[in-house]
Amino acid sequence: MYQRKCSGVKSFFTPLFTGNINKMIFVIAKILHNFEFRISNFELKISHVEEQTMNYATIKKFDIANGPGVRVSLFVSGCRHHCKNCFNKEAWDFNYGKPFTEEVVKEILDACDHGHIEGLSLLGGEPFEKENRGGLISLVKQFKERFPDKTIWCYTGFLLDDELMASGEADVMELLSYIDVIVDGRFVEELKNLALMFRGSSNQRIINVPETLKSGKVVLLEGKWERTMGSGDIYEQ
Ligand code: SF4
Repeated sequence: MYQRKCSGVKSFFTPLFTGNINKMIFVIAKILHNFEFRISNFELKISHVEEQTMNYATIKKFDIANGPGVRVSLFVSGCRHHCKNCFNKEAWDFNYGKPFTEEVVKEILDACDHGHIEGLSLLGGEPFEKENRGGLISLVKQFKERFPDKTIWCYTGFLLDDELMASGEADVMELLSYIDVIVDGRFVEELKNLALMFRGSSNQRIINVPETLKSGKVVLLEGKWERTMGSGDIYEQ
């Protein structure tokens, strides 16, 4: 078997050494053709990877839990932080939910186009996972063009300063440039506190993103983001 294969290869290349011009041209053309086929196959695989869209788990069109006022919230799929007792474990899987298509972007933007909607919130999963950045950049760009006065809040398990900004990655910085407020940091079960507003554990910070990007150091969003338990108050300055 091995010998037959070797002798076949040998006879294929023989014209290159015997000076038979026609056969030499045939052999060279065949080599070039194979080479071209491999290159185009490689390019096809690359473009397939680039075309892959992110998945999303849920869209809430009347959300009052993830930022001030009534908001439209998008929960994307995929998260590698794996915090203990995560509220949304099924969304760790990047394949969970449905593909995030142009139709979904339109559905979200149309849902935001009402006077009572204060803004858009991005949650997960993890919005800043590499796989999710491209789809979200496209969404937030269109959102800000259409609704310049509405805000974007984003929930991430990464630390804004030490991880996201420190990475300096172009798509991270581009996504950040559209976000007004980030709630950052992993969820820490031991620091869980029901009195906290818009976050699960006390290590998580509510950050003013434009001011932070301008000054280069974390600027917290002004306000006292805690409830006085039992008083019935929702929000106290
Ligand atoms: S970052 Fe959020 S979604 Fe990811 S594991 Fe932690 S709590 Fe769950």
